Amino acid sequence: MNPGREARLKVLGLWPVWRLRPGPANESSPLSGRVSVPAAPKGEAESSRLDSLDWDALVAAVKACTRCPLSDSRTQGVPGVGDRNAEWLFIGEAPGGDEDRQGEPFVGQAGKLLDAMLAGIGLQRGRNVYIANIVKSRPPGNRDPEPEEVAACLPYLERQIDLIRPKLIVVLGRIAAQTLLVTDTPIGKLRGHVHQYRGVPMVVTYHPAYLLRIPADKAKTWEDLVLARRTMAALKTAAPA
Ligand code: URA
Repeated sequence: MNPGREARLKVLGLWPVWRLRPGPANESSPLSGRVSVPAAPKGEAESSRLDSLDWDALVAAVKACTRCPLSDSRTQGVPGVGDRNAEWLFIGEAPGGDEDRQGEPFVGQAGKLLDAMLAGIGLQRGRNVYIANIVKSRPPGNRDPEPEEVAACLPYLERQIDLIRPKLIVVLGRIAAQTLLVTDTPIGKLRGHVHQYRGVPMVVTYHPAYLLRIPADKAKTWEDLVLARRTMAALKTAAPA
């Protein structure tokens, strides 16, 4: 362990707790554990309209969106942040209060932990990473988004994925994972595999806000991040840039 890495893991609260343990994430090839999943649902008319938007038009559309009642209570739509040509795409659930005010995903306490998670695998917000949510407007009181709100918003994320063309998606938390995989399988069963979403390999891990409440699960999250890093390495070996 080099000293810089140890310092980063200490910031995360992962040192000396987060250790690789033997298990599926460490034993098999990252690309051998794929499970097939059904395609995500589409809001047909809206999807086809969004399919032609470039980045600036897409960002403007998200900020001004009134496709669901969340637009009545939010301060602003929060499109996402980061490198638009990133190899890594991290996807959370929906903006919270801080994100709603600042217009950027994951800027509150959960965002600090996400930044530490990124640092743990040698990544940094804005550098080869894009961060977005499945829902772009804050649900009041940070409640879970309703299925209709997710359905209204998902075409924006789909267009973002098509524009970014990331090599790997890391999905944060149960709601985002179950939404994208169209399943009610518990997150504990979804993690540890490499799924596919819109043809992009996808790894599931816990949401940073959950980890702030249940720090014991940081160890599993670290395993997921290692799986993600190994998967990215395998993808780059298979198809160098
Ligand atoms: N939680 C999320 O899922 N997304 C954010 O942007 C902030 C908190």
